[in-house]
Amino acid sequence: MNLIIKSLNLKLKYPFRISRETKTIQNNILVILEDEDGIYGIGEAAPVKYYGEYVKSVRAALRRMSKFLINDPFHIEDITNGLQSRFPADASARASVDIALHDLVAKKLNIPLYKFLGLNPSASGGSKVTSFTIGLDSIDMMCKKIEEAKDFPILKIKLGVKNDLKLLEAIGRKIRMRRTTIRIDANAGWTVKEAIKKINAMKDFGVEFVEQPIPPGNIDGLKKVRDNVDLPIIVDEDVKTSKDIISLAGAVDGINIKLMKCGGIREALRMINIARAHKLKIMLGCMIESSISITAAAHLTPLVDYADLDGNILITNDPFTGVTVERGKLLLSEREGLGIM
Ligand SMILES: [Mg+2]
Repeated sequence: MNLIIKSLNLKLKYPFRISRETKTIQNNILVILEDEDGIYGIGEAAPVKYYGEYVKSVRAALRRMSKFLINDPFHIEDITNGLQSRFPADASARASVDIALHDLVAKKLNIPLYKFLGLNPSASGGSKVTSFTIGLDSIDMMCKKIEEAKDFPILKIKLGVKNDLKLLEAIGRKIRMRRTTIRIDANAGWTVKEAIKKINAMKDFGVEFVEQPIPPGNIDGLKKVRDNVDLPIIVDEDVKTSKDIISLAGAVDGINIKLMKCGGIREALRMINIARAHKLKIMLGCMIESSISITAAAHLTPLVDYADLDGNILITNDPFTGVTVERGKLLLSEREGLGIM
């Protein structure tokens, strides 16, 4: 198979601020995987420096990976396992190849990817409603963003900074006027004590759950937070692959799976099965990504509880169309493969 690597520079509508950083542009990498019949699959890598990946490292890994893509594209398990053992640190690069392989084989079969995976997004409870993210900002700007997001019934509010309870109180009034569900993501910004205090103060704001309250690597701390609050705790930064799940069972209520952290659809399926076996709730999340990888994740939503797949809606120059959103609901087309145009 032939692998083509291109730049995909995504511009954010608003500077995207979370507890640890602000960004205005996200430099992703587009991959095109062409087989000997001239059929091609597309994928995308969104390198995140927090997880040790950069444009340069992804490009270098992809160039080296291209040597190992000589197999039949239907051998997805063999190919992705081979890449996982050779390139363990290059999760988003591996995800881009995994996504392109899935697009390619479903195109060869002339069916949508969800059908290849045996899933039915149009069944009741199939496809999910995605949350829409409101990044950290001034109270005025956060209110403006909330106003602009009035078509979304679920908002994810980024917190995890010193004055965030004041922020939540101010914007909470605006949110309460509508029937909006809110999810809070502290992005590891609180201490255990702070998390307990703040989460307990949030009870009346219609919060569904709280994501990653404290820095990763502190399972006892997570358990302490969970034992002292009433809201469910979902981890994101604490869980990258299926190997991370077992030790978190019993300490948290759920996990946030992202294709860019775990290395693609194949590993995401393993994570979903392991999380289910441990009675954990599952959210499918994303980085700042174009419609390519957001759509890839959307094909898996019949298997999960919550979707947070809005990365493509936060940018102004998405070159692609794939999954669409209607009042928050993710709608997949019946086109073959990922269904990207
Ligand atoms: Mg998160």
